Parts: sequence; structure tokens; C-alpha cells
Amino acid sequence: MTLNIQNIRGQFPVLNQQVNGKPLIYMDNAATTQKPKVVLEALAAYYTHDNSNIHRGAHTLADRATRAYEKTRSLVREFLNASEEEEIIFTKGTTEGINLVASTYGRKFIQKGDEIIISTLEHHSNIVPWQILCEEKGAKLRIIPVNEKGELEMEAFEKLLTEKTKLVAVVHASNALGTVNPVKEIIEKSHKVGAKVLIDGAQSSAHLDIDVQDLDCDFFVMSAHKIYGPTGLGVLYGKRELLEAMPPYQGGGEMIKEVTFEKTTYNEIPFKFEAGTPNIADVIAFQKAIEFVNELGKANIREHEDALLHYAEEKLKGVKGFIPVGTAAKKVSVLSFLIKGMHPFDIGMMLDAVGIAVRTGHHCTQPLMNRFDIEGTVRASFSVYNTKEEVDKLCESISKIAKLKN
Ligand code: PLP
Repeated sequence: MTLNIQNIRGQFPVLNQQVNGKPLIYMDNAATTQKPKVVLEALAAYYTHDNSNIHRGAHTLADRATRAYEKTRSLVREFLNASEEEEIIFTKGTTEGINLVASTYGRKFIQKGDEIIISTLEHHSNIVPWQILCEEKGAKLRIIPVNEKGELEMEAFEKLLTEKTKLVAVVHASNALGTVNPVKEIIEKSHKVGAKVLIDGAQSSAHLDIDVQDLDCDFFVMSAHKIYGPTGLGVLYGKRELLEAMPPYQGGGEMIKEVTFEKTTYNEIPFKFEAGTPNIADVIAFQKAIEFVNELGKANIREHEDALLHYAEEKLKGVKGFIPVGTAAKKVSVLSFLIKGMHPFDIGMMLDAVGIAVRTGHHCTQPLMNRFDIEGTVRASFSVYNTKEEVDKLCESISKIAKLKN
């Protein structure tokens, strides 16, 4: 199905503005996506009509808020094809999901001498929590290398896998280069040595179909703000038996069954991991973001974004001084690049001057930048509301900027 992009753009009020005297061209979608009106309206509607604390109240507003909150859990279950709603935990985002697993599963099950495998492509949020854990436990962090294209070296991965490997944590799609990793194969191979696998789905969840049962991953983490939802909200999926075996992450209200000074008993999952008053409004508004994606269809979104990426790549091929970074065979819609003789930050500023929003720098992937011996890149990342005309403008601007030094 061909999407009506103008109609879709009309649902995003933020796009209708001028920046530096030019129409905004928003291409920083890997950092965060814009929010459709339905999400904004759901936030306002909650605070206007239903604001109430959930799960405990006997009154009508509390009941309405609780039902709406739990409806999102049900939609997320469907979105990820998890088998049970209890396997869906609301978090602050991908970062918190990974920290939760490191702090609970990691603290309980990782021992001295164990090994955790991550990859060179990881975002800092899928590096640092494991470093902290390894330091605390005397465990070892092993790293899957990447080739020149920015793809994982799978043979090297297989060599790293041993009976010492207890956990493998890899990104599904790289935020810095767009590379899509063969996660199903990684999971299958890791399971053969008895290791559990966490998939960082921060970037993949907006573009790729996710089926946690088919993948057979043990944990999957994502952020709502990367798929048209609110900031400060994310999801941790975990297999029931693992979540049940894990100790709680934070102590407080909601996560308990009974508290006495002698002994506290914990609530069932998912509530065991949702201590305190949660991010109710954002969870409720997230429903609308999921429905927005479902209505358009992920395959249609992906087709549109892929077409924009390939169009841009083709147009930029002949530009003197243009250097693509990350040319994996399988990518989400991320165009990372350098221009010979120019600093990425300067390129970003020049693009901003003509209304084009891109990201520059290390993209929270410093070890990956080190691998390519660069400080950072310029990253344009496309979403469903970007148009071919916007890509034309981007390519035209890049060509002009490149001519300054090439
Ligand atoms: N992992 C990847 C691949 C990301 O792209 C990001 C955000 O850019 C994160 C993790 C962290 O997500 P958040 O900041 O929403 O917790």
C-alpha cells in the first residue's frame, strides 16, 4: 500500500513551522520521533478528564485510568507478540530496561569468571550497565567486532561463545549506522551454550516487525519516544520464568504484596517491577502511538523509509568529498556520513541554517566511532513523514556544503 504522506504530515503539528526562515525538515528521527495529534490529545484528555492514581482507587476516575493504563499493556503485548501481558513491564525507556536487567538478573545470576557478550555497535546504554555489573562481579565483557561496512563479524561471535557466556546483549538496529543485526541467529547460537539474550530494540521497534516469541529472545527493550510516543517511557519484555526468578529492581509502593518490618513479600509480575506511581499519562498516550503505527502498517512504513534511504544514497554517490559511514547490506533508514575536510558539527550547523535537523557527533557509540577512527558522523534518519522533496533538499544542501572544501 502506498501511504499518503501529506495526510500523515498533517497529523504532526510540529512539522508545520519554519526554522531559520525555512520550512522545518526534521531528519533526527533516530534520536526521537515527532508525535501525532492523537498522542498529544490523549495526554491532554487524560489530565483533563481522568487524572487519578491507578490500581488502588475505588473511585470511577481511578478505575478509568487503570483500565486505560492496562489497555496499553495489552496493546504492547500484541505489538511485540509476547505470549502474556504479565511479561510487559513499563520502564522509563530502553536505558532503564537494560539497567533493570543488569541490576536484577545480572546481580543474581552472573558470577565471577562468567562472560557477557556485547558488540562494537552498542549504544552506551547497552555497554555501561554491563561494565558496572562485570566490575562488581568479577565477570568479563567480550565484544563482537564489526567489519568495514559496520556489520557484525559473526565468525568472531561464534568463537567468543563458550560455556562461560551467560548473557549476550546486542542491538537489533544500530542508531549510529542503521545496521540491522541477525538477531535471530545470535539468539539461537547463544541459547546453544545456555546463555540468555537481551535485544536492544530502541531503533528496530519503529521499523521492523517484532515477534519476541519467534525471535525467542529472553529480554527485549524499547523506548516509546522512538515510535511516535511520549518521552520518558519504555518497555521491558522478559520471559515469565526469568522475570519471576529475578529480584525486584526498586522497592516501594505497588511492587509489594505485604509489608511488615520483619519480612516483605513482593507482588506478582509485572507489578513487582513497577514500584511507585508510574508514568500513567504517557503510558495511556502511548496507546495512540501504537495504534498510529498499526493503522499505517509497519511494512508500509518501512517501504517508504527504505525508498527514501536508497534515493538519498543514490543521489549522494557522485558528490565529491561525501563519505558514507556504515554501508551494511541490511539497514534501517539511517544515513550516517562525513564530508572530507569538514567537521560533522559544522555540517550540522550549516544544515540547520537551512531548516534541516540532523544529529552530529558520536551518537552515544564512542567505541564504534573509535573502531572507524573517527570522532563522529552526521546522521540523517528518516521517518514516515519525510518526503522525497525533503531528501532532495538534504542532498542539494550536502552537495553545496561539500563543494566548500572539495
Ligand atoms: N539503544 C539504542 C540503539 C538507542 O538508539 C538509544 C537511544 O538513542 C538507546 C538505546 C537509549 O534509549 P533511551 O535514551 O530512550 O533510554
